[in-house]
Amino acid sequence: MVKCTLEFFHTNSKMEVIVLYPSPAIGHLVSLVELGKLILTSKPSLSIHILVTTAPYDAGDTAPYIAAVSATTPSITFHHLPRISLPPELLNTTAHPETLMFEVLLRNKPIVAEALRSISQSHTVHAFIMDFFCASIIEVFSSDHQLNKIPTYVFVTSPASFLASFLYLPTLHETIPQSFKDLKNTLLDIPGLPPIPALDMAKPILDRSDMAYEFFLESTTYYPKSDGLVINTFESLEPRAIKAISDGLCVPHAPTPPVYCIGPLITAKGKKGSQLECLEWLDSQPRQSVVFLCFGSLGVFSEEQLHEIAVGLERSGQRFFWVVRNPSSASPEWNLDSLLPQGFLDRTKDRGLVVKNWAPQVEVLRHDSVGGFVTHCGWNSVLEAICAGVPMVAWPLYAEQRLNRVVLVEEIKIALPMKESDGGFVSASEVEKRVTELMTSSENGGSLRKRALVMKDEARAALSDGGSSRAALAKLTESWKRG
Ligand code: UDP
Repeated sequence: MVKCTLEFFHTNSKMEVIVLYPSPAIGHLVSLVELGKLILTSKPSLSIHILVTTAPYDAGDTAPYIAAVSATTPSITFHHLPRISLPPELLNTTAHPETLMFEVLLRNKPIVAEALRSISQSHTVHAFIMDFFCASIIEVFSSDHQLNKIPTYVFVTSPASFLASFLYLPTLHETIPQSFKDLKNTLLDIPGLPPIPALDMAKPILDRSDMAYEFFLESTTYYPKSDGLVINTFESLEPRAIKAISDGLCVPHAPTPPVYCIGPLITAKGKKGSQLECLEWLDSQPRQSVVFLCFGSLGVFSEEQLHEIAVGLERSGQRFFWVVRNPSSASPEWNLDSLLPQGFLDRTKDRGLVVKNWAPQVEVLRHDSVGGFVTHCGWNSVLEAICAGVPMVAWPLYAEQRLNRVVLVEEIKIALPMKESDGGFVSASEVEKRVTELMTSSENGGSLRKRALVMKDEARAALSDGGSSRAALAKLTESWKRG
């Protein structure tokens, strides 16, 4: 079954290729494609092959995206691996989404190995770059005489600070007997990071008895076995974490491979017609006056929480642009009027815009009228805000976002923390307070804004000729020449 899907690899003779292996989620596919495009800017003679995994659950529709990239970038070829199936009892559990992903990746290992062997017959594979979720595939490389010559790299779509915490996870596991969730706010000492309250570690690893924890723990032990760690960040954004990793402090008992900080890698996305209307609305607002609230591709709040945000925004008196997602995915027929406090939309219509589901975030953040961003701390969102010089209020919801909040607030000093109650609920008065603090020239708001502009310049410098990220990319691609 595997062989017939791989035939097309034999059509080219000894082309030089890089193989990329994203985990099965549209966001991760997009990130790896962007990395592929970046590599092509440095080495246009290479071709990029992307191994696409189809999961037996909804991981986002990738077909239109793949078609668009194939049409515009002929040097990138997608290869669809055979669909993985999972036992129904696994699919029907309430396991973390990450657990299902790991189950798929586990079953994918022989298929990926076979695909690579097949590619290697007719191509020179200079490197195999995998999404950090996929790191345990490295096991297959070490035991296969054909594959073990191919250098492997782990691509991290989260901050270097997150990577530091994951590289250090086996050490934490050995030295601390409890689950992070039981340690509550006990501060963890992780090289390169400010003290991290245990509850702020990445969500799927809070509970030791969870399968997701086991999978991550195993997966992180493979990071140091790779030939390099490629991170979507830049040197001057996270100098302490990057140095701690590079100096080997996060992996005490084994060498740490070279670190390549090649970011910020921002994904260009198309705008739909209806989304342009919000940019027109922004055109009519004063400079840096609007706070933008948007919570990533998965950020969903309860009706009660949406209500509280609305009250907080109204009381703050600030201009706002708020993207609201449906709180109950069961009812597709929802409208903003019935969801938000009675009369809210009408009362705030002169200074607020609320849209359903999606906005062209990169363009919005770059708009001159936007002066602040309330974010769920997804790393792409954070990098997009940094590139636009926009300070943030950090309101983490899932994945590694609570760790990102600590780093943004304590280390990079580019965000204010949104403080939630124990149950994760944020009151209207907290929303009002933080939004006001961010948007007015209070002491905090002012210094965050200055810092945001400094970081914007630093990001630009990192990507310019002679900048640290350009140099890291060149170092990475040059190393393949010798291979
Ligand atoms: N995004 C967008 N419009 C929206 C919500 C999200 O364009 O209304 C984009 C955003 O610009 C970012 C990505 O979706 O590039 C979200 O990635 P991030 O890492 O911030 O969070 P995730 O969705 O992975 O949690």
